[in-house]
Amino acid sequence: MNPTKWKPKEELMDEKNEMKKNIPIVEVLKSLGVSGIVETSPGRFKALCPLHEDHSPSLHIDAEKNVCNCVVCGKLKGDIFSVAMTLKKTGFGEAVKYLRKNFSAYISSPSASPASSPKPPAIEQVANHVRTEISSLGVVSPVRKEENAPLAAAQPKLYGAIKDRSSKIHKIPEEEFWNNPPPLIAPLRNLAREKGLTFETVKYFGLSYSQQENRVQIPIYNDQGEIVGLVGRRNNPEDEIKYKFPQERFLRKGLEIYWFHEALKNQGLIKKHGLTLVEGFSDLWKLWQNGYKNTVALMWNRTAPDQERKIVELVKECKSWINLFLDNNEAGRLGQVEITERLITKIPVRVIPYPEDPQVTEPEHFSGAQLKAVFN
Ligand SMILES: [Zn+2]
Repeated sequence: MNPTKWKPKEELMDEKNEMKKNIPIVEVLKSLGVSGIVETSPGRFKALCPLHEDHSPSLHIDAEKNVCNCVVCGKLKGDIFSVAMTLKKTGFGEAVKYLRKNFSAYISSPSASPASSPKPPAIEQVANHVRTEISSLGVVSPVRKEENAPLAAAQPKLYGAIKDRSSKIHKIPEEEFWNNPPPLIAPLRNLAREKGLTFETVKYFGLSYSQQENRVQIPIYNDQGEIVGLVGRRNNPEDEIKYKFPQERFLRKGLEIYWFHEALKNQGLIKKHGLTLVEGFSDLWKLWQNGYKNTVALMWNRTAPDQERKIVELVKECKSWINLFLDNNEAGRLGQVEITERLITKIPVRVIPYPEDPQVTEPEHFSGAQLKAVFN
């Protein structure tokens, strides 16, 4: 046994689980020559089974569970490891090697990128740039480990691989949503009750629920309106981590601004009322629900350089200003000072005042009347 190849069992399990969850089976099947893959409904695909003469697609693929099954021959079925073993006619170890080598962009753990397969220089350069930028963010505000992991940001051809998972909620009537939601919808109903969101708001922001992760999933879009990541909000209040940002794939927290792609469409409003910056998702949901569609969320309490660049560009173009509306707590007030100092030389910044009410410490706590009072 070669000691350098030995890994603790636990680490192998983690890597295998990560691969199983994160490497899209659709991409694996494509790479192994499966053709005619078509999406029949969100997250569901059909393809021609290569193991027999197949004229009407018999291979059913469930992208959410990341498994497939040929309903005719039953030989091609299971997870990414099973299909790689079947189609490559090989054992488990070889299948893992193949997947590691060809799908390293989907795996974040370092054990999954063997030193023997260096990344192409262009991607490595961009990844380094992202790392430097993200670690520079860590200086102004400590970022949690899972938020500043190196990101495989340099693969635009993979955009669109993350599907909108919100279709289930569009199929149920409002009465059922509030009073008798199915298990996969109930966490969304509970979140809506907790935050005072309407059924329309939950649908509009494309929220869904992942049973596997026990988290409400919030799709994050890039400026072109493509989903670049799903942020998981805890469903269990005892879960230590409130928001989980994906470590892998395309989401760059320091680049994207939540709901910026829609703000870009509302430039008339921004011209008239400014561009409002809030920290969190639920602040933004509440403001939009109250009609303030000139609002975007930073997803934390500072602005990263790329976020700043986009904000300044848009505000200048609209000849407008910033309404800085962070949380009224220590972190928010520090962020307010820092962001103001950074932006004020480029664009006008107006800080939104809080009412003298100890219960109101975040934009989402403002009533409709309180919002009107500060914005008019
Ligand atoms: Zn078949």
